[in-house]
Amino acid sequence: MNLNQVFIENIVKPYFEQGFNMPFDQSVVTAMRKVDRKDFLPKTPIGIYIIDAELRDEAMREIARLEQSDDAEKTEKVTELWKQYTKDVHEHIFRQTAPALVTVRDVAYMNSPISIGHGQTCSQPSMVAYMSHCLKLSEGMHVLEIGTGCGYHAAITAECIGAAGHLTSIEIIPELAAMAKKNLQHHFHASFESRITLVEGNGRAGFPQNAPYDCIYFTAGANGDGFIGGLSAQLKEHGKVLLPPEQGNIAIYTKTDEGFSLEQGTDVMFVPLQ
Ligand code: SAH
Repeated sequence: MNLNQVFIENIVKPYFEQGFNMPFDQSVVTAMRKVDRKDFLPKTPIGIYIIDAELRDEAMREIARLEQSDDAEKTEKVTELWKQYTKDVHEHIFRQTAPALVTVRDVAYMNSPISIGHGQTCSQPSMVAYMSHCLKLSEGMHVLEIGTGCGYHAAITAECIGAAGHLTSIEIIPELAAMAKKNLQHHFHASFESRITLVEGNGRAGFPQNAPYDCIYFTAGANGDGFIGGLSAQLKEHGKVLLPPEQGNIAIYTKTDEGFSLEQGTDVMFVPLQ
């Protein structure tokens, strides 16, 4: 297990299951374990912490030794070790053993939104899981994302829909569109081109060129009364649109013969849609 996998299993999963009072979809867990959040975040300095590199190295050695053994319970034991060492590191913080400059990238494994610059944030992992759950993402789907940001949420969606699916994602800030492209190319290597279309521009009106979609989701908040109707023509029958407000209950629209039916999801806070 690497740190991202420990993070998904031990932080995001319990948070999701307790917070939303439902099981964390296994297909989403599998996708999230593959997408290392650290690789998507910028190296912007945010502060100075006290850490102990020696203790970290000792933990890594112990874990590597366990992983190579044929111990039947090694997965559980590795998880236990991480918990134990995390606690020890915490104690060392108070003993102030060695100072270190910490960047946004170093706090990747926190279940919170994280600044990616330009006033925007990388989505909270448990929120990415929740949105994937609401959309019932599955292999082969065609999905439209509005607000690529750093590409973290996009990578998880693309993993959920697999190589048979296709994700189109639109980002309005050119610097972030470029960052997402680099991150997603790095994550998907040769399959990037066939699995993802990145578009730079305003996504309010969707992207008819790649329609129809099984679902459309926004990663920035807005009230959809004025523009959501225009997306209906880009959706397949019973297709869904997920639209968070800036603050309040996330709206889950399902396409019907008459327009959309609306369901209220969990309470959220999002950066505003432009
Ligand atoms: N889910 C992303 C980022 C979410 S932040 C991640 O995991 O990193 C929301 C993003 O939506 C920001 O990058 C913002 O620039 C973008 N955005 C806001 N309004 C938009 C619009 N009208 N069209 C396209 N992108 C938009």
